[in-house]
Amino acid sequence: MKRDLKIFGIGGHNCKSVVEKVEILLDGELDKETECQLIKEINKCPSCLEHYAIDDAFKKFVKNKIDRKNCTKDLKDEILNKIKHIDTESEDAIEP
Ligand SMILES: [Zn+2]
Repeated sequence: MKRDLKIFGIGGHNCKSVVEKVEILLDGELDKETECQLIKEINKCPSCLEHYAIDDAFKKFVKNKIDRKNCTKDLKDEILNKIKHIDTESEDAIEP
């Protein structure tokens, strides 16, 4: 995917760049294609995934995306499952 390379730089993944893009995304100012690329990128990066797993706005955003079917449902199911898993782990870590 040359476009992936252009937007995010495969092999030089930049979490800060992803954070900045998610902020724009949550403002609703990214186009649909970039939204999907961003969700894919987060799905690939445990650090980004963990960061956004605790971001309620992002979880709501992904859920909305599933309703609106802008990305493939499989991809969204995958990331939501991962977020759910991280949430569970976090709760386990916090609970005595
Ligand atoms: Zn990352």
